[in-house]
Amino acid sequence: MRCEVCGREIRGQPFRRIIEGSRLTVCSQCARFGDEEWTPTPPKPPTKVRGSTGDLSRLEDITLVEDYGRRIREARERMNMTVEELARRIGEKESVVKKLEREELVPSEALVQKLRRILKVELLIREEEGFKISSSKPLEGRRLGDLIKIKEEGAEDTEEERG
Ligand SMILES: [Zn+2]
Repeated sequence: MRCEVCGREIRGQPFRRIIEGSRLTVCSQCARFGDEEWTPTPPKPPTKVRGSTGDLSRLEDITLVEDYGRRIREARERMNMTVEELARRIGEKESVVKKLEREELVPSEALVQKLRRILKVELLIREEEGFKISSSKPLEGRRLGDLIKIKEEGAEDTEEERG
């Protein structure tokens, strides 16, 4: 690495200084030209917007239905299955089933598969079905002339002479 001021090879730790508004990496000799330090911004890892639903988060275009709790409960009741029974069937505690039905717990992918198999209920939805982006309308009937008032009163170039 070379000093961005004098061009000499920087030996040891380079100094980061703001010199005349520019962020420069300089040698110890040139560090005195700037009194402000700057810190390089590390490249940010892409942040996932989706919630922390464990296994489900890696499914890109498939998401959990909003009313999964209701769906589970209805499917269970339809099959005349008690909470206890369903819990046993999916290999979970009763409290887990109750939480799922109250939507206090987000099922893992494995759990969703089990519920689907046992209750014959679909809890996943493809993103494009459940999430439609309504295209925003472009500005209609608005022209530049409406936005910028060109006419300025009292600022006319022509002089009117009155006799
Ligand atoms: Zn230098």
